Amino acid sequence: MKSVIFDLDNTLYSYDRAHEKAYAELQRFVERELRLAPAEFNRLHAEAHRILKRRCGNNAAVHNRLIRYQIILELIGKPIFIAPEMANLYWHTFLGAMELEPDAVQTLQTLRTMGLRIGIGTNMTADCQFEKLRLLGLTPYVDFLVTSEEAAVEKPDARLFALCAEKSGAAPGECCFVGDSLEKDALAAKNAGMTGIWYCPGGSDRGAEGIRVIRGFSELTALLQTLCG
Ligand SMILES: [Mg+2]
Repeated sequence: MKSVIFDLDNTLYSYDRAHEKAYAELQRFVERELRLAPAEFNRLHAEAHRILKRRCGNNAAVHNRLIRYQIILELIGKPIFIAPEMANLYWHTFLGAMELEPDAVQTLQTLRTMGLRIGIGTNMTADCQFEKLRLLGLTPYVDFLVTSEEAAVEKPDARLFALCAEKSGAAPGECCFVGDSLEKDALAAKNAGMTGIWYCPGGSDRGAEGIRVIRGFSELTALLQTLCG
């Protein structure tokens, strides 16, 4: 094994907890500024997501909150130039609320000392993921980054994994991919010729053939020591 590639959101830090805080802040903003009740905003948010997905498909622009909020404002006939304020409020709150998963940094340090190249393979736009890695203090441990914006496709598309392997300088068979989604990370990585590792902190009865499951990062170090022989 020569390289370990991590998904970022909900793998190295909790996306869900940061999103919850940021979304609640946004709900308060639109209720105050646009007189939109939370239930109505939730409906519009989902509708805007469907529209955006229809327009950009399997592309990182689907994650662009500025465009999503622009669509919401278009749907309700309000000035679109409130959208940047909404996106800034969301991301400012989100980035301030991020928390690393337990043992994430120690694990990356250990993998580094084992001589492994560390990468990130993530479905998101580049500027956002660069900022998350900086604020989480992970930049000293990351050798390369692949975003779906750069790959022009989203996981589980094999082309994103191929670009990860290319940047690692190793063959797919010499790469491990660790992520919280069984389908989009672990299984997709396995289908691309890598070792797929499912990060599942809560544990699960689910699983898939040939997929290793870890409940925490301390288990990952032990597993990789075995795989590296
Ligand atoms: Mg994830």
